[in-house]
Amino acid sequence: MKTIISISEMQNFSERARLRKKTVGLVPTMGYLHEGHVSLIKTAKKSCDLVVTSIFVNPAQFAPNEDFVRYPRDIARDKKLCKSAGTTVLFTPEAESMYPKGYSTYITVEGISSVLEGKFRPTHFRGVTTVVAKLFLIVNPDKAFFGRKDAQQCVVIKKLARDLNFGTEIVVAPIVRERDGLAMSSRNIYLSPQEREQATILRASLLHAETMVKKGTTKTAEVVKEIARLIETKPAASVDYIAVVHAESLTELEKFEPGVPALIALAVRIGKTRLIDNTTIILH
Ligand code: AMP
Repeated sequence: MKTIISISEMQNFSERARLRKKTVGLVPTMGYLHEGHVSLIKTAKKSCDLVVTSIFVNPAQFAPNEDFVRYPRDIARDKKLCKSAGTTVLFTPEAESMYPKGYSTYITVEGISSVLEGKFRPTHFRGVTTVVAKLFLIVNPDKAFFGRKDAQQCVVIKKLARDLNFGTEIVVAPIVRERDGLAMSSRNIYLSPQEREQATILRASLLHAETMVKKGTTKTAEVVKEIARLIETKPAASVDYIAVVHAESLTELEKFEPGVPALIALAVRIGKTRLIDNTTIILH
């Protein structure tokens, strides 16, 4: 595995790969890797000749009151995980070269960036789509791999790739979970043991919602209310949002209906830690 820090060196590598007719897969991450990231790298390895994993804690996607400074970092451990998962190139650009002094170009996917997460983190997706567009231009990947854990992000990135004719196929991989169901996240390290236990309510409430729908509940408002009731049984939990939206357009749904993919997405603060999770239900 090769580590590249310089943007121009990464561009040269990508150009040479293209001349050698090698397919390139990109796995963008913010590091502090876990099994969720590892599964993306392994999935990329299966369908691409070369895998570029990027690690970049992107300042543009954090609001001033968020956890950019204390976001966990462990590059030595990340290198080992990247290598054993099958990464060809680990790309770790520096913030000063991604956003040099005077940088002023941003990319916004309008509409779908403003709902759900966008309501609570108004500048978040502008940062995500800007950095992903930059990474696509630098790496020029045939495919890029994203986790369903960030369901809205997947929808936004697909739209970005389509709208700007990137020609990169966006591949979405399933959520990887801890044994008790908590979705893996670099931020889980922030949780105290008591909070960690209470955090299992996110997945448990989503499973309960799935059962309600399977048993015949059709009104989304009823399901949302029940999820909220379950989450509120945990003293450390406070809900940012619980929403049921069309899985592709992200427009709100009033009913679960056959053939309509419904995304139940939620964001919950457990103590000071903000966690997200989701599930998609398709009735037949
Ligand atoms: P992050 O480092 O949190 O920006 O995540 C990098 C990529 O890994 C994103 O595409 C995430 O959706 C994905 N990812 C994060 N956690 C998980 C998980 N538990 N399961 C699957 N993919 C994940």
